[in-house]
Amino acid sequence: MNIDLKTLTISEASELLASGKISSVQLCSDYIERIEKIEPEIKAFVYFDKESVLKSAEESDIRRKKGEHFGSFDGIPVSVKDLICVKDQPCTCGSKMLKDVHSPYDATVVTRLKEKGFIIFGRNNMDEFAMGSTCENSSYYPTKNPWNLNRVPGGSSGGSAAAVAASEVPASLGSDTGGSVRQPAAFCGVVGLKPTYGRVSRYGLVAYASSLDQIGPIAKDVHDAAILLDMISGKDHLDSTSLDKEDVCFADVVKSAGNSLKGMKIGMPKEYYIEGALDESVFADIKQTEKLFKELGAEIVEVSLPHSKYALASYYIIATAEASANLARFDGIRYGHRSQDSNNLHELYLNSRKEGFGAEVKRRILLGTFVLSSGYHDAYYLKAQKVRTLIREDFNNAFKKCDLILSPISPCPPFEAGTLLDPLQMYLADIYTISVNLAGICGISVPSDIVKNLNVPLGIQLIGPAMGESKLLKAAKVFEDNRTIRKFVPNL
Ligand code: GLN
Repeated sequence: MNIDLKTLTISEASELLASGKISSVQLCSDYIERIEKIEPEIKAFVYFDKESVLKSAEESDIRRKKGEHFGSFDGIPVSVKDLICVKDQPCTCGSKMLKDVHSPYDATVVTRLKEKGFIIFGRNNMDEFAMGSTCENSSYYPTKNPWNLNRVPGGSSGGSAAAVAASEVPASLGSDTGGSVRQPAAFCGVVGLKPTYGRVSRYGLVAYASSLDQIGPIAKDVHDAAILLDMISGKDHLDSTSLDKEDVCFADVVKSAGNSLKGMKIGMPKEYYIEGALDESVFADIKQTEKLFKELGAEIVEVSLPHSKYALASYYIIATAEASANLARFDGIRYGHRSQDSNNLHELYLNSRKEGFGAEVKRRILLGTFVLSSGYHDAYYLKAQKVRTLIREDFNNAFKKCDLILSPISPCPPFEAGTLLDPLQMYLADIYTISVNLAGICGISVPSDIVKNLNVPLGIQLIGPAMGESKLLKAAKVFEDNRTIRKFVPNL
């Protein structure tokens, strides 16, 4: 049978495999063919091993024939961002620094996917060490937005989002430290979920900022995102911050979401909707979404997040401080690129890091080292941590008045490729996503509209309290069913 990859979801693929209408080899071969056709334009992957994918697909088909398959998703491909370890595959974090590094083990999320028979289908491009919002900070090449090749796909998980939007793979895992799953998902017209901090193990995820990082799914629809969350979440003894799994199946929550949001209160933070802060298209989209939520039975309430004006400053202090510590190990001695052009140990350190890291990473290491240095630690880092507590309390207070919060993802539609040259401009565009990471809560990006004159998608964000994924996914699903652009796919 012919498979329509453009609209195929994980749940549909699972039904087709179960009915025997398709095999995993056919499914993977179709995706490989599509990758070979469009990847030269999109550049969403940095690594892809056709032979090993087909071998895994054959093994899956044999298991299924014998009735010994590892569950209903056995044989379905999923890709990962290039900072999630897959045993014996390269793991370069989009950086020259890790050019020849191969992972000696699987990340816990990868182990869990493999246990269910998912096939790890290559590695996606990203901003170097997950620092950026455009996927242009990769040391390989920039990834293109499949909707409009002159626009960025967002970042830092831009390769993951572009690959899903271009139907090169049905879903991918990204990582979200300050928006890197949600923002590229919105820019590419797919669904991106940032789970509650601790919901998903970070073991085998190369750290950017450990107190903010969280792995999350990027998928064609809310149901698929829920399926993947079910697969990857839960306590892991290899990550002491991971949390126990609740007795809930998120995929079932989504399936039984119904078509009404009656009884649900949706908060709109007054600080988020000040005039001039949002591009016209984003503002109009939020207004339309507010109206739709009302029609679906939800009550809209105004909430306040008074400290959100300090969120950017505290994020860029905390994230860079943690990054400077986490990236200290890449010094050419313990890990990473070793300069061949040095006369002594000091030069070896200096040159290895100078040659290995790109400009944005160096900028952040400098900033992070500065805010942690003696004399400035209390003034900047400690202050930022205090502000972080206030931001978390703001959300706690807001969630006393509402179940979920509605917000934009980005103040503007996807940027034109090659134009976001001022780093500060790039940081400012993170304003609507970073608070969720600072507070450790969950958020989802759902496609909402298309900006007609630019031919790029927009997405709205729903934010939920810690461990509030059930409500979040339910509302996201009802929204998706009623105002979906899922039926539209990029013309590739
Ligand atoms: N754009 C943000 C940054 O550059 C978020 C990155 C992320 O979530 N990894 O830090």
